[in-house]
Amino acid sequence: MRNSWRIGKIMGIDIAIDASWFIIAFLLVYTLGFLQFPQDLHPRSFFARADAVSIALGVAACLLLFGSVLAHELSHSWMAIQRGIPVTRITLFIFGGVAEIAAEPDRAATEFLIAIMGPLMSLALAAVFGAAWLWLRVVDSAQFLGVSLTPLILLSSLLAQVNGQLALFNLAPGFPLDGGRVFRAIVWGATHDIRRATRWASRAGQLIALILVGIGAWLFLTDLNIGGIWFALIGFFLWNAAGEGYRQTDLLETLRGVTVGQLMTRTVETVSPNLTLTEFVDQHLLPKRDQTFAVSSDSDFEGLIGIDHVRRVPRPQWNMQRVRDAMTPRAAMETLSPDQPAAVAMTKLSSTDATELPVIEAGRLAGFLGRAELSRFLRLKPESKRA
Ligand SMILES: [Zn+2]
Repeated sequence: MRNSWRIGKIMGIDIAIDASWFIIAFLLVYTLGFLQFPQDLHPRSFFARADAVSIALGVAACLLLFGSVLAHELSHSWMAIQRGIPVTRITLFIFGGVAEIAAEPDRAATEFLIAIMGPLMSLALAAVFGAAWLWLRVVDSAQFLGVSLTPLILLSSLLAQVNGQLALFNLAPGFPLDGGRVFRAIVWGATHDIRRATRWASRAGQLIALILVGIGAWLFLTDLNIGGIWFALIGFFLWNAAGEGYRQTDLLETLRGVTVGQLMTRTVETVSPNLTLTEFVDQHLLPKRDQTFAVSSDSDFEGLIGIDHVRRVPRPQWNMQRVRDAMTPRAAMETLSPDQPAAVAMTKLSSTDATELPVIEAGRLAGFLGRAELSRFLRLKPESKRA
């Protein structure tokens, strides 16, 4: 996610907040602190106003809710790390949280364990907050503390309920929800066919998405219930994620056993780092078919240059600036090696926004692998069914 801020690091995983999170945080603090809690704290008053207690409670509830979401994602991540899959980042956003687990599990059992941990954590939190709620109520009714525990009772009740709902919603058997991943792992384990398992689980995911949109539309149209919009939005989000998840798995399966070396192009046009940009444009960029050029002197690969690099330099400076000044230096580049799996290239391409990546062999630039090469390969594979 692009507009996100790092707020810390837990178990070596960066924790980030996406810009969209502030929308939900604001909505939560407002509805809880200014509408819901004033009513709950002063049930006898006809028009309860927000006060310092209700607002503080709203803020606390918002932070604890996202703490709960974070705990859910951290437990997925913990299991992923236990099973040898690194986790780069957890991002909190408007619909909850997402852990960026570096690779898809290669075994059904791993998938099952990673997926089940989140809902288990949410269930455990629901139980803990539920127990706290019961205990606080007992202590409060005995009245030996002399202060009202109502705010804490409200808080623990809300957190118990939301964590319970989080566990139940995530256990719905639609991919890519946790329950859908559990479902996929079971079908995968039974049939040894990850593609079929993913197809079933993502169809289930899209069915659940349709039901959510249906419920949302019904709530909104019959009741003018604004919450309906929320259901519909989550439904749309899930629909896209289910389709995307299936395509991703299908691609990875098609690329199984294929290496970077088999797909890369091996024509490399080389330019000298000492050319001015004007010379580079006139002698290479305009007349030649290749659009990315290796910059090298004495066969040492120094970097890459293409049309985008030139465009970043104002035209009057093209005579002064040299290729070396405008290129992306090798040190700042994601690179591939020919013996890496092609699936790795796909993951790197989608995480860097680059259209192609340089392939380095024995310290020299051997060629390129980009989206064009990948899609050419996929077009030549008729047995892979596109959905
Ligand atoms: Zn989860």
